[in-house]
Amino acid sequence: MTRTTRPVPRLVRGSVLVHRRRCGRATCHCADGVSLHEATVLSFSEAGRTRFLMLPEEMAGAVRAATERYRAERARLEERGNAGLADLTAVLAPARRGS
Ligand SMILES: [Zn+2]
Repeated sequence: MTRTTRPVPRLVRGSVLVHRRRCGRATCHCADGVSLHEATVLSFSEAGRTRFLMLPEEMAGAVRAATERYRAERARLEERGNAGLADLTAVLAPARRGS
């Protein structure tokens, strides 16, 4: 199985970010605290906690795009919900007429 063929869902909740850290091995190049290991992760909240999902490097771009689609769709949904709320408010508001 090759990882590159794994499909990425169209919408993904979360944010793609890069973690930089030391691995702890004294002989590793990261021990100088400068050339750290980088890991691309998906950060997301679940039940009030922030969680991370390690992403294979070759999937990072596609997952990032999916999180951007998710944010765009959520913004559109929010907009429609607000428009509906405004319409309902207008319908149910008591008529105010000048005397
Ligand atoms: Zn290391």
